[in-house]
Amino acid sequence: MARVVIVSNRVPVPTERGARAGGLAVGIADALKDGGLWFGWSGQISASARNPVRKIEADKITYATIDLNQEDYDRFYVGYANSTLWPLLHFRLGLIDFKREDLDGYFSVNRTFAAALALELEPDDIVWIHDYHLIPLGAELRRLGVRNRLGFFLHIPFVPASLFSALPQGEKLLRAFLAYDVVGLQTEEHRRDFLDAVKQVLGTEPGADGAFVTADGTSRAIANPIGIDARGFAAMATKAERSTETKRLLSSLVGRDLVIGVDRLDYSKGLPNRFAAFGKLLHDHPEHRQKVSYLQVAAKSREDVSEYQALRRELDRKAGNINGRYAEFDWVPLRYMTRPMSRATLAGFYRAAKVALVTPLRDGMNLVAKEFIAAQDLNDPGVLILSRFAGAAEDLSEALIVNPYDPGEITDAMHQALTMPLEERRDRMDRLRARVFTITAESYCRNFLAALAA
Ligand code: ADP
Repeated sequence: MARVVIVSNRVPVPTERGARAGGLAVGIADALKDGGLWFGWSGQISASARNPVRKIEADKITYATIDLNQEDYDRFYVGYANSTLWPLLHFRLGLIDFKREDLDGYFSVNRTFAAALALELEPDDIVWIHDYHLIPLGAELRRLGVRNRLGFFLHIPFVPASLFSALPQGEKLLRAFLAYDVVGLQTEEHRRDFLDAVKQVLGTEPGADGAFVTADGTSRAIANPIGIDARGFAAMATKAERSTETKRLLSSLVGRDLVIGVDRLDYSKGLPNRFAAFGKLLHDHPEHRQKVSYLQVAAKSREDVSEYQALRRELDRKAGNINGRYAEFDWVPLRYMTRPMSRATLAGFYRAAKVALVTPLRDGMNLVAKEFIAAQDLNDPGVLILSRFAGAAEDLSEALIVNPYDPGEITDAMHQALTMPLEERRDRMDRLRARVFTITAESYCRNFLAALAA
């Protein structure tokens, strides 16, 4: 069997695994269950740039990493990837901070990655590249003469061609996708928008099956939603139910219902609207005062990007306003934390919650929604409130689906969830679980690798 090579911006090297390994890394890792190579940035910034590849072996997997220098980090990571591509592909043109030197830095780091990776490749390797940091990597590998099967998966949304056309030199970026044998997207909507952009911007007419002809042959776009290790997560939640942390949480609630939100602190997650919706719930439905506690875990993220600093200040202020207005001496309505938590602790908290708020303004998939579902106790399940703009909404239609641009919709859904009869909660959760246990991390990796091998 051909060796699988995974490439992602960050590599979860085993020494730093544990608390911070997010759902994404866990999902992709399934592709290497029989061993292989995982290549990418070490997460380190070193003065002497582009030093040689460092390797660690563990569980039949070779982890190979390179460092970035400060300029790479500023231009490639903070700049183009997170201040141009991230806002663009989350439909936030107004937040784009484009700089030509960032674009150059982005392509230059991709060239560096390609040069280092090409030396590691064997002729039969199947290479699977992940996410928006590394779109041009395939084309750079091809330029170096690499003839392996090359696949790419975009974990974030794609935008309609009219929005994509705002990207300076967007044609250059879009053309880079054509180097891949397979381009994977999370949903049918993202796939349609991607193919439409290919058609509008590059003038390449895609076939009905998502195939499009390129200079080097044909390429194909597929929708392949990512999932979680549902069984593993459910087992972790069941175990965590008896953990010290969950017991402490439950005893602090003194019988009140728990509403939970778990996100990176990111403007795509719609946190200000969610806070507004909770404030409105307490205002419009005084019967819920003192009866619910909302715990928002919002792990700090990308603190070098100024938009994220602004968001943090805004949320600090909004959280203070809600608590200042509604708290009682023995009840804090909103518990807001920016420290990360271990996955096991989160699993126990999901299970303890009556309601989960997953209300991004845009999200490629959103794995928190799936983790919450997998963690539920079917005897007394919670209710998921889910934004229609999360990729997860494409097949989780038994959640309470909301338009997060209207905080009032979130408020109404919270009231509905908090008062929903047990039978309806069970019925909805039953159906949701069927999806989450079918479309898993394992099926995601299997489908993509099968498409790439075909
Ligand atoms: P994104 O990839 O944009 O961060 P997802 O919802 O798809 O959003 O994935 C987030 C992953 O990170 C999930 O596995 C979730 O459990 C984890 N995570 C999110 N917020 C936190 C947090 N505050 N602490 C620890 N883990 C978190």
